[in-house]
This record gives sequence, structure tokens and C-alpha cells, in this order.
Amino acid sequence: MHPFILTTWSFGPVGNDAAAPGLFAGGSALDAVTNAATVIEDDPAIDSVGVGGLPDADGEVTLDGAVMTNPSACGAVAFIKHYPNPVQIARRIMEKTIHITLAGEGAERFAAREGFECRQLLSESSKDVWEKWRKDPRTIDRDKYKGWLPPINVEELEGVDVQQRRLEAREMRTHDTVSILARDRAGAIAGACSTSGMAFKVPGRVGDSPIIGQGLYVDQQAGAAAATGTGELITGVCGSFLVVELMRRGATPADAITETLKRLQQRYDLVEEHQVAFIAISADGDWATGALRPGFRHTITDEAGTRVEDPKFVLLKS
Ligand code: ASP
Repeated sequence: MHPFILTTWSFGPVGNDAAAPGLFAGGSALDAVTNAATVIEDDPAIDSVGVGGLPDADGEVTLDGAVMTNPSACGAVAFIKHYPNPVQIARRIMEKTIHITLAGEGAERFAAREGFECRQLLSESSKDVWEKWRKDPRTIDRDKYKGWLPPINVEELEGVDVQQRRLEAREMRTHDTVSILARDRAGAIAGACSTSGMAFKVPGRVGDSPIIGQGLYVDQQAGAAAATGTGELITGVCGSFLVVELMRRGATPADAITETLKRLQQRYDLVEEHQVAFIAISADGDWATGALRPGFRHTITDEAGTRVEDPKFVLLKS
């Protein structure tokens, strides 16, 4: 069996390269996805995950994450504010409790009891971006924050020209979950995802990433899939579960992703700022990635090295 790690986005190499030696030496896929996620979460330069993640509309960073190897082996954590490594916490929930998901204060107390280190998650640069957004979304560096709109606080809706605000904010990119799938020498697969969610979200919002079946789904008998992008779209079609179920019925990873993206296209009135991408591995080790729109890239690491590549399939032209 040839081991490999497949990660969303071009920030994948920092995590893949840290996790690959252990995986290639015979380590488990579960350890590989946990280790890769931890390195990416701890990197303050990555502003969509862990330390340095962009905050919600009130300026608070809240993190979500999940880990999974089978329907009977998954864990998730949502809405944590003081702990930078949701994937490790999710794994501890999976391994040490009878539950699957912990959220908010209870999840934080669990993390504290388990000895996880409490840290300030809001970096100076993310605070800076948030302050600019609060003052005027148009001042954000549009080249950097491309392709997404900041959600508008429900409290602020009155008197605001929502349509105008959407148009002004269209160019902002404020999302990017790290989702990681790996296959080990024994042929086992595992997945993890970790995110600070949609930037400037309405406080309390939880996306697809910590919901098993939405942002992540793994079943050794059928395959693994994980998502990034507009969580509200992914959640409405049970995105990752759907990709895996299609593979269970015989679809290749590429076909399963394509059909799921087409389902999104059929079931939503898509707007320009919507983006969704999936990565997937079948039970026999075939893999693919695909995105709704151009702009998504994946990182693949195998024994030949690490490459950042375009997805195998993009549904829409722009
Ligand atoms: N899917 C994540 C969420 O909606 C964000 C992202 O991947 O960009 O929370």
C-alpha cells in the first residue's frame, strides 16, 4: 500500500511535510491527520484555522474541528474560544468519552481537564483585519481576501442596504478550512478538519466542519471525504456523507465529488461568492478533489514528495 496525505488548500505542505515521515515509517493514518492538523492550527500565519484564525463579528475567534476513521470512531468539537487544537480535542473526545460532539463551555472544561494548553487565539494581524472590517469592509485587502462576503450581523440588518453590502464585500475571501485525509501502509484511511469558520460570522454560528457527515465523513468500507467552503451549502446536502455514499455505490472519488457539486448547483441559488470543494479517497485508495469554482487547490504528499495542484474537476467557469 502506498501511503499518502491529501489536504485542502495550498497551505497544506506545512502540515503534510510534518506528518509524512511518521506515516511513511508505518504510522497510522489517524496519527498523520492529527499531526498535520496540529501543525497548521499552530501556524499563526494561517488566518482561517487555529491560532490566528479570523474572528466573528464581535472580534472573538471560535474554532470547530472533527476527526474520524469510521462511523463508530469519530469525535468533534465546536465553538471553542481558548484552545488552538480542535482536532486533538476531538480525538480525545472520541477516545475517552461515550460522546461524539462537545461544544462551547463544556468542551472547554473538557479540554482543561484533559490538560490542553489555553491560549490567546486572536493574533494581532487578525485583530487588525477585523478592525478594518468593522470600520468598513471595503478597506480589506481584496487581493488577499478574495471570493467571499462577510456575513452581516443580524442586529445590523435594519437600515442597511444588504444587497449593496454584499456587492461591496464580494471580493473578500474569509474562509478556508483545513481538511486532511490520509491512507496508511495498512490501507486504513482517516480524516480530520479544523477551522475558525466563516470570518466575521454571526457570533454563535457553527458551520459544517464539526458536524459528522457534513465537513467530514469516513467509513473504511466505502471511503473518506472532507469539505471546505461555504458551510451552509455543504450542510444542506450532507456533503461529505453524500460523497462517501456515492463511492459506496460504486462511483469513483472524482465522480462522487462531481455529482455532489452538481447537487449543490441544483439545490441552491448560487451566488458568486459561494465556493465549495471536496477531497475524497475511495476504500481502495483512489483519490480526487473537485471544486465548485476556480481558486481551490489541494496539497498531495506521497513518497514522491509534496505537490500543490489544481483540483481534478471544477464545475463552474468563474
Ligand atoms: N466550511 C467552513 C465553514 O463554513 C469554512 C471554510 O471551509 O471555508 O465553517
